[in-house]
Amino acid sequence: MHITPTGEKLVTVIPGDGIGPEVVGAAQRIIEATGAPIAWETRDAGEQVFLRGLPSGVPPETIESIHKTRVVLKGPLGTPVGFGEKSANVTLRKLFETYGNLRPVRELPGVITPYSGRGIDLVIVRENVEDLYAGIEHQQTPGVAQCLKLISRKGCEKISRLAFEVARAEGRGSVACFTKSNIMKLTEGLLKRTFEEVALEYPDIESWHVIVDNGAHQLVKKPEQYEVIVTTNMNGDILSDLTSAQVGGLGFAGSANIGTDVAIFEAVHGSAPKYAGRDVINPTALILSAVMMLRHLGEFEAALDIEHAIIATLEDGTTVTRDVVGDEAAASTTAYTDAVIANLGRRSERWSVREHRPILLPRVAPEPDSVKVAARRVVGVDIFVESGDQAEDLGPAIEEITSGLPARLKMISSRGTKVYPSMGAMTDYVDHWRCRFVPLREENEVSDETITALMGRIASRYRWMHVEKLQEFDGEPVFSKAQGED
Ligand code: NAP
Repeated sequence: MHITPTGEKLVTVIPGDGIGPEVVGAAQRIIEATGAPIAWETRDAGEQVFLRGLPSGVPPETIESIHKTRVVLKGPLGTPVGFGEKSANVTLRKLFETYGNLRPVRELPGVITPYSGRGIDLVIVRENVEDLYAGIEHQQTPGVAQCLKLISRKGCEKISRLAFEVARAEGRGSVACFTKSNIMKLTEGLLKRTFEEVALEYPDIESWHVIVDNGAHQLVKKPEQYEVIVTTNMNGDILSDLTSAQVGGLGFAGSANIGTDVAIFEAVHGSAPKYAGRDVINPTALILSAVMMLRHLGEFEAALDIEHAIIATLEDGTTVTRDVVGDEAAASTTAYTDAVIANLGRRSERWSVREHRPILLPRVAPEPDSVKVAARRVVGVDIFVESGDQAEDLGPAIEEITSGLPARLKMISSRGTKVYPSMGAMTDYVDHWRCRFVPLREENEVSDETITALMGRIASRYRWMHVEKLQEFDGEPVFSKAQGED
């Protein structure tokens, strides 16, 4: 935290694009009205920066400011088509390894949804930098693309610990972990296994695992059974939009991107350009994000006051924005913000606000990973080959050109299903094949020389585009089998 010479906590504020300056301005005015000792350092990112020709959308002055303040209040950033391939939002999250995305949702007075009266009050803790969203994609053949799903033990440990710490800080009694570990045993399974290990250190908090598809079903049927949900990046992205909709949608969905060193607070919604400058948008999502920021900075009283003031304003229902009451009865963004300021200090008799303690941010050992492997063996290799042949022609051809080497073709699969030797699978016909080789003698390893020789032989007739070693760690195979492989 950076304290100014006059004793204020300095925050980098990025007004953002479209409706960003209006919602960020509303949050700043409310914070100032609480008297919390916050000072702002305004920096830019997003559309204007792309237009200036900086492909990242995040200028060095902004990065420098964040290095200093470590705390950001950020409006939505647009990503204009044709400039910069990556979103400036994602760039900011990744630059500062904000590995945890917290998305709380709670029922609010006067915001009527099909779930009103059920008391939804939960936080989704989404892993924020790994998984399919690491953005590592390749078009491997003209017909087939891949996206690498990278999950680290360290990432799983940080996000699991963060989820339990959020539960403790907010007085919540349970954490559920949602994964697809039944299918993706190594990647999604890594979060499940790590979560279960970490859970042992939090005996005061109930914990359990839910297969994510059932989790989605449960969230629609009975969302009030959950207090904290921790999950991988893509699952969390989808489920947190679902839960936002259950309590009133984008106008109310705030979020925090938490890293070990930097935290970025922003609404879930985008820059909604059609509403820009019209003074009609609901600023609550950004204000609730700012409330999370105040708690992060230890300003619990101001945070509590603002949350109560939002509840009082919504409960009155006379000065609320168009997304809540429609165009006819709508108040402007400015009028709603004024009403929240006027309600600072008020407490609802019916609606409470959760007490918060500081979240103890997890400290994970700085070594590259937390997994120690005593013995490892390379027990095979997958060489991915492009070919327009059918499997029954490709198999014998690959066997012929690789004969005489100390490894044999065990099988060929098409998108994970074994097709050679045939077991009668009726798969579709694409130009992408995985050829799995194992040592001629089971007790041997497949050496790098053998892999290079296999690739050379295959390249004499086919294109190969990807190679993956099959390893055993401490006697356990750490690769998946194809569907139908023995
Ligand atoms: P959007 O800006 O979130 O807007 C979609 C719709 O959601 C709006 O038209 C409006 O619905 C509703 N909405 C959004 N914010 C609202 C608020 N504060 N109060 C009430 N209703 C609200 O999504 P988009 O149009 O797909 O994206 C626009 C730009 O934002 C894109 O450039 C995108 O890349 C960017 N984006 C940025 C972020 C971020 O910075 N974190 C996140 C998402 C998108 P109605 O039309 O029904 O009124």
